[in-house]
Amino acid sequence: MQLLFHSNVLTYIFHLRPATYAKATMIFRWLNARQPLNTERLQESDNFSEGKFQNKQQHLRKGKWAALAYLKRLLFTASAERIPAAPIPMEFINSDSLMGLDHSNIHIFRLGHSTMLLKLGADFWLIDPVFSQRASPFKFIGPKRFHPSPISIADLPPIKGVIISHNHYDHLDRLSIRALKSKTEHFYVPLGVDGDLIAWGVAASQVSTFDWWQSLKIDAVSLHFTPAHHYSGRGLDDNCATLWGSWVIQFNQQSVFFSGDSGYFAGFKEIGNKYGPFNICMIETGGYDAQWPVVHMQPEQGLQAFIDLKGKALLPIHNTTFNLAFHPWNHPLISISKLAAVANVELLIPKFGQVVTVGKPLRLTQWWL
Ligand SMILES: [Zn+2]
Repeated sequence: MQLLFHSNVLTYIFHLRPATYAKATMIFRWLNARQPLNTERLQESDNFSEGKFQNKQQHLRKGKWAALAYLKRLLFTASAERIPAAPIPMEFINSDSLMGLDHSNIHIFRLGHSTMLLKLGADFWLIDPVFSQRASPFKFIGPKRFHPSPISIADLPPIKGVIISHNHYDHLDRLSIRALKSKTEHFYVPLGVDGDLIAWGVAASQVSTFDWWQSLKIDAVSLHFTPAHHYSGRGLDDNCATLWGSWVIQFNQQSVFFSGDSGYFAGFKEIGNKYGPFNICMIETGGYDAQWPVVHMQPEQGLQAFIDLKGKALLPIHNTTFNLAFHPWNHPLISISKLAAVANVELLIPKFGQVVTVGKPLRLTQWWL
């Protein structure tokens, strides 16, 4: 079967047009999502048992058919309010303005969904880089982005490190990784995610894997991989085969938190006690649904997570780029704005491409209304 798809045999036997062949290959890759290579390291993890990674507190797993049910619902539910009616106001980033930023504060740009560009000292870092048109296993179908990236991979300066939270398509994008690998010094990923990166051509020596609570210092930057309550998988048969999590990034007496994807759980308090307070918490705010209450947070829970983490300012992520859930596209930002005002919480909702600098006020516009 593998040979059939990995050669031109299929095209020859079935007289497939090249475009059809490409689609068949994508579907095959999804059905046979690659298992991680470094299984020995996985077994050593306290979070790995019965052949899968586990959350600290168990919840009922829905099984592989839930993924198909979600795809069906996504494809066949009316999408009028789930997509913005007009282009989203945003700012494009040029490399001169990047180079002009000071070297003592943490600078953050939101490029889309959960894709963040950070400047730490003289170096640039990316978190969960997704530059593709769709957050999907397939190039020809699936949630399409509402806005372009404020900067292309080609225009990015050299990247010191790429940080990944987990292997879902809206956080780990094969085409982006392939395009980034030659301009990136190193990749920092959860246990097992190295398997995909290496399969996509990243050198094994260019990837470091992390279990929860593991840390690494890279020059003046400290990285800590922290828990999340979520799951992983890129196909029908690799559910929870690789780890998921959140990240703490410290630089020059400043620190930020990146939630990745997570349901609300006791881990936020634990992380806050160990590494808080944080100057900025980037917390998932969007993609929630009554059908998956455990693995994503409602805006109320995101605010509570921010309080547990001892954050000083909240930057909502995981919204307004892809139509992945069933709420109106701007509902997450409308909700969190109301909640933050009542709770007197400092909210940072930059336009895509607008710089956020720790310690400096942000010029806010309500671009999502
Ligand atoms: Zn996810």
